[in-house]
Amino acid sequence: MDDYKHILVAVDLSADAKQVISRAIDLAARYQSRVSLIHVVEPYIIDNNYDLVTGLPDDLEMLLLQQARDYVDQLSRELKPEIISRVFIEVGSVKGEIFRVTSENSVDLIVTGSHGRHGLGLLLGSTATAILHGAPCDVFVVRINKTDE
Ligand code: AMP
Repeated sequence: MDDYKHILVAVDLSADAKQVISRAIDLAARYQSRVSLIHVVEPYIIDNNYDLVTGLPDDLEMLLLQQARDYVDQLSRELKPEIISRVFIEVGSVKGEIFRVTSENSVDLIVTGSHGRHGLGLLLGSTATAILHGAPCDVFVVRINKTDE
């Protein structure tokens, strides 16, 4: 099997993101890969019933993009900044944007957490499941250990 050359890490804004990035960095050391991070801002608001409420006003979208950029930059500084080659902050559907960036940047491994905001108590959260279905390359799912469950 060929080595992985470019690993893309799907980063949500939860505290668990560090576990996911750390594992990707371990993999990158083994395969001598480049590592990029991606966070996707979803451009709509969902209520507690998972119903779509509204699209995002422009100023709120800008604020969320800036917050995401700051958080992901801080994470990469705390971990191994020298190994992170690119940070992608995108707007759209999480799965769609991850697949687009994967295809456009010769990514050959996507690393995602098993759970984030959604799906606690299930085997896999909704984003990990969506990525596993239809990814254009291999996918590595990091099991998130929730200490507070
Ligand atoms: P979830 O579907 O919320 O349980 O999230 C599972 C995993 O999907 C997380 O651990 C992240 O690796 C990834 N993920 C969730 N939301 C995003 C997002 N907005 N942008 C990038 N990756 C995400």
